[in-house]
Amino acid sequence: MLYRSTRGNCSNVSSAEAIKRGLAADGGLFVPEKIIHFDKDQILKMSEMTYQERALNILEGYLDDYTLGELTDCVNQAYTAQKFETEAIAPLHKLYDSVSVLELWHGPTSAFKDMALQILPHFLVKALKKTGEKEEIVILVATSGDTGKAALEGFKDVEGTKIIVFFPSEGVSQVQRMQMVTQEGGNVCSIAVEGNFDDAQNGVKRIFGDEAVAALLHENGYKFSSANSINWGRLVPQIVYYFSAYADMLRNKEIEIGEKINFVVPTGNFGNILAAYYAMQMGLPVNKLICASNDNNVLTDFINSGVYDRNREFKKTLSPSMDILISSNLERLLYLITDGNSEAVSGWMGKLKNDGVYSVDQETKKKIQSVFWAGSSNDSDTLKTIESVYAETGYVLDTHTAVAVDVYDKYVISTSDVTKAVIVSTASPFKFNESVVKAIAGEEAVAGKTEFELLSVLSEKSGLAIPAPLKELDRKPVLHKEICRPMDMAEKVKQVLKV
Ligand SMILES: *Cc1c(COP(=O)(O)O)cnc(C)c1O
Repeated sequence: MLYRSTRGNCSNVSSAEAIKRGLAADGGLFVPEKIIHFDKDQILKMSEMTYQERALNILEGYLDDYTLGELTDCVNQAYTAQKFETEAIAPLHKLYDSVSVLELWHGPTSAFKDMALQILPHFLVKALKKTGEKEEIVILVATSGDTGKAALEGFKDVEGTKIIVFFPSEGVSQVQRMQMVTQEGGNVCSIAVEGNFDDAQNGVKRIFGDEAVAALLHENGYKFSSANSINWGRLVPQIVYYFSAYADMLRNKEIEIGEKINFVVPTGNFGNILAAYYAMQMGLPVNKLICASNDNNVLTDFINSGVYDRNREFKKTLSPSMDILISSNLERLLYLITDGNSEAVSGWMGKLKNDGVYSVDQETKKKIQSVFWAGSSNDSDTLKTIESVYAETGYVLDTHTAVAVDVYDKYVISTSDVTKAVIVSTASPFKFNESVVKAIAGEEAVAGKTEFELLSVLSEKSGLAIPAPLKELDRKPVLHKEICRPMDMAEKVKQVLKV
């Protein structure tokens, strides 16, 4: 299986090469040249498999330049009982008769990025060996909060790699900040950037595109790669849990084989929901993919109008991991939905870069709308949703998942479609505890308390245990104290690498 660029201006590469490079040389994203198909029998068989076996099943088709032994190794190092608090890895929780929640946050950082970032470093280390790479890989990450910690945790002390994470100084929670600045490991570094996520992400993109910096690194035996959700090695493990959720519903006799279901995905960079789209193209019976945004509702507008317009105010919301105005992975959807029209995709991406806006043709818009439904939830509705779901069911949603639940309610009201649905839950409620406690216990319960004190408040109120990695966080020593302007990010990288 070879991988090509969505922009069509560079040669095709193996999966190991695509994972090593992250971004294609022409600025596009790598996509597999074929989509692997699963028939009903294969899906039915998955219902009897463990999560690890399901993962292997999906991965071996796309990463076919890895041996089965190598992939088994990757899966077994990533999805372990030591790293995930539950044997199921990605368990389903039944919320209402026809609505389940897919919990993707039982990993080491309490958010869904672990699903991919626990395995990506293993893909990468093997990719380096396969492609005869002599240079040490430097992972640069721009994070809106969760990716950074998950990447640091995934790459910590992985041989042949260094990792530098840039996070926005405004816009991450206390818990997220502490998770990153206390990160241990001999090859890790986290740096605050003055500004928001887009400033950090644009800074990283600039460094990736800077030939002088690349040459300097090369002279010193280093090479950049990316662990952002544009890397194919992050996308492919995310396909697994969509099959896994369906397989669990089959096993629980909640659906018949072939029965279509809806997925509702809280969306930022469009990676998670794109993996759902791949799963659907691979034969997973899906009716609609519901794209849920917060007040940064660029995607809602795009899916409803065909116009992508990032020229709008960036809003800080209670679901900060979705505070994004440029959803990078949308490029892959545009490529797939136009049957690989790289010329069109390049044109749109060029307009986005130069003018901040592009519009797709009617046919493309219609095709997108035949699969996707989009809506958004503002902070006040998000909090009300946490409150009402807790009151009705006793289940505690985090803010990102609450955005999805609220948008799902809007979907049902607007379409009357009551197809069984899976809400994709992307973070533990403990991770964004201030908003969650406010919603379920009222303003007084949070007054004067830090997020760390609120962990216990939430635990007492909900009866849930505080996830182990969050428990002692406030007592860990701060190891990373640097802050820089977006324009100085390249300098910082040079300093860290001593080049
Ligand atoms: C990253 C993240 C999202 C958004 O996922 P995308 O793949 O970027 O669309 C949603 N919720 C949480 C908690 C996240 O960390």
